[in-house]
Amino acid sequence: MERIPCTGCSLLCDDILIGTDGLFVDKIYGACLKGKERFDQVSSKNRLTSPMIRKSGNLENVSWDNALEKVKEILNASSKPLLYGFSTSNCEAQAKGIQLAKKINGFIDSNSVICLGKALNIAKETGITLTTLAEIINKTDLIVLWGSNAAESIPRLLNKILFSRGKFRMTGREIKTIIIIDPVKTASFGVMQLRDLALNIHTGKDLDLIRVLKEECCKEGSFPKEGVAGIDEEELKRLFLNLMGAENGVIFIGQGLLRPLPEVNVIKELFELVNLINLKQNKGRISVGLLGGHYNMFGFDQISLSLTGKNHSLQFSNNELVNTEDTIITKIEKDDFDCSIIVGTDPISHFPYSLSKKLASKPLIVIDNRKSATSDMAEIVLPSAITGIECEGLVYRFDHVPIELKKILNPPSGVLTDEEILNQIIQKIG
Ligand code: SF4
Repeated sequence: MERIPCTGCSLLCDDILIGTDGLFVDKIYGACLKGKERFDQVSSKNRLTSPMIRKSGNLENVSWDNALEKVKEILNASSKPLLYGFSTSNCEAQAKGIQLAKKINGFIDSNSVICLGKALNIAKETGITLTTLAEIINKTDLIVLWGSNAAESIPRLLNKILFSRGKFRMTGREIKTIIIIDPVKTASFGVMQLRDLALNIHTGKDLDLIRVLKEECCKEGSFPKEGVAGIDEEELKRLFLNLMGAENGVIFIGQGLLRPLPEVNVIKELFELVNLINLKQNKGRISVGLLGGHYNMFGFDQISLSLTGKNHSLQFSNNELVNTEDTIITKIEKDDFDCSIIVGTDPISHFPYSLSKKLASKPLIVIDNRKSATSDMAEIVLPSAITGIECEGLVYRFDHVPIELKKILNPPSGVLTDEEILNQIIQKIG
């Protein structure tokens, strides 16, 4: 048996035990169903194992030489290439992706830009400190899930932080309070006990709640009698009391707090609220955790920041980084691209139809280990090894702690890692 980190989600549980016969992982202990699925991908039916090129409308198996020649042809004819994805690749491949974008004067973004990547910049602006998993396990007495269904998106998170006994606490679940703020009664509500607080907020009204709490921080007794956003006055008082009385509270921000319009900056106002609470309460403090989904989404931010000083949305021109306000979304909206390289993600399924349609209308080069709607629409498909099982490398957990992944199996014959594929493309285009 061997102990390895699981790459099923951004919690990157490092307590998974596996047994292997050298070809398959046949024993898995400690992983949740989501984690187990990740190991099942090794031999799944939708596994990609051969490079493919579209010929007469159909994808056909070809040699790596032919596939790379076709990639070169597309990139040589391109003046505005897009690169997107990289959240399920290791940091080494992410660095290669940035190197390739620089070489071909492309625009590169990771999934973090449409997830919680922007919250990192807001944390910097507002002076908010993000906390770590160890800190939460060992010290926390208040957990707030705001717009996050952790029980399903990061299945073992609550096991580790809610049902555990921390190093600096004599007791466990019995002294921990969980507050869930969500318009949907998700599976996470199932962990609630008497002392906890379930707040079914009206959809899209988080900002109203945050502003009322900010007001209360500045002027006591200002809660509206009729409540706010579907939360009555009594619940508001309990929420405020918990936030002000926590010795070591953490607010987990999930994707439910993301808003498409830049002028509606819910996360910024929430961070300002955290600052106000921490100024006002002298007993303890509240910190923040960002619950991203993909296991190395924050790795791209780290690598991009260290290589370029910017954590996402990099535009290169004359092989130099240039300023841009664009993101992957605005680039596609404006039709400001002529081909794309998609690594380990499925934007054709995830993006709104109007964007997917535009993306699919220009040559798509897909690097992935599984078939998807995006690989089905691709001009070229390059099969990759599964990072964390067939390939080692560095990744960053949701709390920005680096974790080393292990290689436990060889990839199928002829299948390369993301890093090797990107490197071969760089070599090919000369
Ligand atoms: S919680 Fe995430 S990292 Fe942990 S076992 Fe489940 S899928 Fe894997």
